[in-house]
Order: sequence, then C-alpha cells, then structure tokens
Amino acid sequence: MVTGAYWEDTMPYRPHPFSWVPAVGQRHASTDAKPAGGYPTGMTVQTLCGHQLIADNTETAWLWETCPECNAAARVLAGLPPVLGDAVAKTGGAS
Ligand SMILES: [Zn+2]
Repeated sequence: MVTGAYWEDTMPYRPHPFSWVPAVGQRHASTDAKPAGGYPTGMTVQTLCGHQLIADNTETAWLWETCPECNAAARVLAGLPPVLGDAVAKTGGAS
C-alpha cells in the first residue's frame, strides 16, 4: 500500500485545513486562507514549518519536492500518523 504523501489541489472541497504552496524551491503547506486559483506568486504565506515565504505559483514550482517539515505537520493536521524518519521530531519545533 502506498502511503499518501500527496493531496491533490484540484478537489472541489478542502478535505484538510491547509493548502500546499510552492515557495523557495519546495512545496510547503499553509493554513492561510487560499485565494481562488491558489496563492498568487509574490504573496507572503505563513507555512507549517514556521516560515513566512513568498509563494511561487508557477507550473514548474509544483514539481518541487515537498518540504519534509510541512509534510509532517500537514499529516498531523490531516489526522494521519506522522511520517517515519527524522522529520517527525520537528513538527513542534520553532525557529
Ligand atoms: Zn515548509
């Protein structure tokens, strides 16, 4: 069974209280309200890994790797068990 690390952003509803946002070379997740059509390029978004990043809403940006800290935090928000690995310990980390 494949463990779900991906959530499609094309669903007509929001199954989880966060959205994915590509920024600075990785796909991050954010609980900020997402405008229709996604976070526009240049918008500052508070990410689950504790940073304020500038969204980069380009086609190639969606091919970037998922930020492991956002992925771990997003799994918690989604009610899924945390990913195994060293990202687990970072979900509550600051700085
Ligand atoms: Zn992140």
